[in-house]
Amino acid sequence: MSSQTAAQTEAVDTGEAEWTLVIHGGAGVIERDRLTAEQNSAIRTALAHALETGSAILRDGGAAIDAIEATVRELEDDPHFNAGRGAVFTYDGAIEHDASIMDGSTRSAGAVTGTSHTRHPVTLARRVMTESPHVFLRGAGADSFSVEQGLEQVENDWFETDERRRQLEEMLAGEAEGLSAYDIDLKYGTVGAVAMDRDGDVAAATSTGGLTGKRWGRIGDSPVIGAGTYADNRGCAVSATGSGEYFIRVGVAHEICAQIRFRFEQRLAGARASVRADSDGMPDHYIHASEFGLEAADIQEIADRVIAEMGALGGSGGVIVATPWGTGTYAFNTPGMYRGMASSNGGASVAIYGDED
Ligand code: ASP
Repeated sequence: MSSQTAAQTEAVDTGEAEWTLVIHGGAGVIERDRLTAEQNSAIRTALAHALETGSAILRDGGAAIDAIEATVRELEDDPHFNAGRGAVFTYDGAIEHDASIMDGSTRSAGAVTGTSHTRHPVTLARRVMTESPHVFLRGAGADSFSVEQGLEQVENDWFETDERRRQLEEMLAGEAEGLSAYDIDLKYGTVGAVAMDRDGDVAAATSTGGLTGKRWGRIGDSPVIGAGTYADNRGCAVSATGSGEYFIRVGVAHEICAQIRFRFEQRLAGARASVRADSDGMPDHYIHASEFGLEAADIQEIADRVIAEMGALGGSGGVIVATPWGTGTYAFNTPGMYRGMASSNGGASVAIYGDED
């Protein structure tokens, strides 16, 4: 696994924002000397483009769940990222996708693992959520549900790229020399998006090819609700990227949402208790939950703490977070994370390296 570095975090105070969108395209040992100038600029352009796709939906009053699906579909089609076209190869030289989606307003969720022919796994995950009585489908069964749903199907080699083939070959050569089998590039290219819309609803989605050279039916955190993806209007929406085994063990996405929910409830109770009483001993006024929110610093502290806990077990990676109060945040313990953020407060920014704002 990648070397551990101090937690890299950024709090962007999107407080009072009417909508927020945060995206990632994977985390890992992403350093300036590892990317060519062309890669650097192509990835920034791709992130900015995907960010604008989701922002346009949110700006027009669209739902968070629609914005994140559209954003992730675009990243799935972009061969720079380990999702959809451009996903990594399995040990046997195939491509198998994992994806998940969750709607924080209903806590309904859908997920798929090991699909081979569905062009947009995130859309299949959404259909599992809305059109089936289930949450999680796998392999050929998931692909046949996809056909029944009329979703676009492609040959497995449509997803292939030369660069991912090279990475598999490099990994297999390294393995023959006794090197660790996984993550030859120490880079996780999974994609994800989280958003809050004008109604205050949050949603999260994640899509990936998993790890280069995965075998034995290995499944990472990305399609596991609670590990790689979670959304709950009472807390936040989270999408993760990194060493999936550790994210599963910590239940990273749910853990962050639950801690935010508990802190909110605690603060709200404290605020209500501090309201002055009138002469009859009745509170002067009532604080409705909708009038109250957590600060960006609270969100950041919780996300950092959960990433640190995952890191302490030996894992690496990061998360993106959006809250129903409009805060958007990143937290990661890797040297870099492909990422971007936009909100109604104006502006959109993309970043790659840990030291960028
Ligand atoms: N988390 C993904 C997995 O373990 C990998 C990634 O983030 O790129 O499958």
